[in-house]
Amino acid sequence: MEIKVKKNVLGKNDRLAAEIRKYLSEKGIFAINLISSPGAGKTTILEETCARLKDKLGIAVVEGDITTTRDADRIARHGVPVHQIETQGACHLDARMLENALEHLDLDKVDLLIIENVGNLVCPATFDLGEDAKIVVLSVPEGDDKPAKYPGIFRRAKVLLLNKIDLLEISGFDKEKALRDLAEINPDITVFETSATKGTGMDEWCQWLADRVAEKKKK
Ligand code: MG
Ligand code: ZN
Repeated sequence: MEIKVKKNVLGKNDRLAAEIRKYLSEKGIFAINLISSPGAGKTTILEETCARLKDKLGIAVVEGDITTTRDADRIARHGVPVHQIETQGACHLDARMLENALEHLDLDKVDLLIIENVGNLVCPATFDLGEDAKIVVLSVPEGDDKPAKYPGIFRRAKVLLLNKIDLLEISGFDKEKALRDLAEINPDITVFETSATKGTGMDEWCQWLADRVAEKKKK
């Protein structure tokens, strides 16, 4: 009866996620759920994003990790409000964890909520958190076969950040092949080629975010 149990868990999660989505919408907050394998560069991307946008927008961050507050400490250094969820073993965030985390943040002046999920390309894709957009990060050293092998997250994401693009040659990453596979899975996805450590593509990515925040405010 495992199948039924999983269905019930997801049903419950989806109902809570829908409540969170409504709550955030009433506050005019645009929320993203950042998903990737461990080490793809999510936190560095986040640091660069906060550095570029924190004077223009109200930002709050929720960090998900199995253990440690290291990523939250990195974000806090930018003067952005952050709350760390330590999942104690769970390999993804769920809506209940996010609901608890939001109680620790003052959302009144927030325009953009960034949720960094636990490093994992598989189950974070299936747990709705009430976000407006899932953002997937794929770093080129992980290999060009990832969209074909992990289609779930690439299908559900609105944006792909193809990160560590400065390592393209050295990684032997076949960009055309990866983008061809991606187009088959999700023809509507927006792709930014980024190197968070070098700053490549970060202005374009931040402009995309600022445009979505402005759209959400108008609604
Ligand atoms: Mg991280
Ligand atoms: Zn999981």
